[in-house]
Amino acid sequence: MTPTIDSDRLWQSIMDMAEIGPTPEGGSCRLALTSEDTAARALFLRWCKPLGLHHDQDAIGNMFLRRAGSDTTAPAIAFGSHLDTVPTGGRFDGIAGVLAGLEVLRALHDAGIATRAPLELVNWMNEEGSRFSPAMMGSRVAAGELPLARALAITDDAGISVAQALADSGQGGALTPAPRDWSAWLELHIEQGPVMEATGAEIGIVVGTMHARYFQITVTGEPSHVGPTEMNRRHDSLAAAAEVIMEVERAGLAAEPGGRASTSWIENTPNARGNVPHITRLHFDVRHNSQEAAVAMDASLRQSMSGIAERRGVRIDVNPYAAFGPIAFDRRLGALLRQKAAARQLTTRDMIAAAGHDSVFMAPLVPSAMLFVPSVAGITHNPKEYSTKEQVARGAQVLLDAVLELAGI
Ligand SMILES: [Zn+2]
Repeated sequence: MTPTIDSDRLWQSIMDMAEIGPTPEGGSCRLALTSEDTAARALFLRWCKPLGLHHDQDAIGNMFLRRAGSDTTAPAIAFGSHLDTVPTGGRFDGIAGVLAGLEVLRALHDAGIATRAPLELVNWMNEEGSRFSPAMMGSRVAAGELPLARALAITDDAGISVAQALADSGQGGALTPAPRDWSAWLELHIEQGPVMEATGAEIGIVVGTMHARYFQITVTGEPSHVGPTEMNRRHDSLAAAAEVIMEVERAGLAAEPGGRASTSWIENTPNARGNVPHITRLHFDVRHNSQEAAVAMDASLRQSMSGIAERRGVRIDVNPYAAFGPIAFDRRLGALLRQKAAARQLTTRDMIAAAGHDSVFMAPLVPSAMLFVPSVAGITHNPKEYSTKEQVARGAQVLLDAVLELAGI
């Protein structure tokens, strides 16, 4: 008999976690490896303590909480997500996955159930990528997609490196980041979109992800005075970047419903009143269900940018610094989640994830699957991000049922 998730306890944990790095509008701000993120990790460990888990941490700051199985040679069943947030974070993105995983372990602990295979609950470091880019950094490094040394040298906008932030926060562990001995990886996440609510689906079975391509561009013009310099003699990097931003948005609009594109970061130099800017840097990404379509968006944006550069007499350097997907998640695990949801009389819908997730980097290494719970009105990366207690608990129950079947008793 499968134990039942304690929906009140799970909900209370999510609400308590949100009190770390609270924002005035009711959300959370816990950028990776800040004091808020460190406090969230400490609270998480305090909650894990009574469960008798073995805690391992690797050199990029990923946390692994292991519950022993009766078969000491069996690979583990792993699950989790991330506790870091974007600056305008809500209470659920990533957190729901980690704390649903915690609730799975609590429920098994309370029921006195020992599984055959060990279980491993994971909190990935810097999933959001708001402070240190690229996103999904911890899982990327663990998967060997990003060399540890390169990740450690990446700096935030204040010039603090990942290595420094890990040392300052005490979050750099002894373990060398590497793929772990797992036979399955499961991640519960909020949908972050409106589809499940609109269609009445209670559990989303994520069958795959979009293809995403990330860019940093540097627009280089010429510094000059905003007064005397005649308009036609200016090489204004910010004005050129503004055109790029609009082109990126147009590319996203033209690619709907399958595609998306957004500029999310800007740095302007010298950013001084009285000066025509001469160096402007942007980060943007394009994504699409179809890889060919994303490549076409990429190509058309490069063409637009070279036109802008030529017309304005500026230089635009394009650095395509990361990409992921499209990923197809494990069909057998997807079927298991579908079956476990049906056994609980929950309606399901197959979904494609438009956001990046740590599961993207697990999928090539180990059979992987994701399940979504609905996001009210599809709002996310926003303090208004919300899923109900029941919605989160249903997802956690399906996660528990699937974990128990995979791990065996
Ligand atoms: Zn997330």
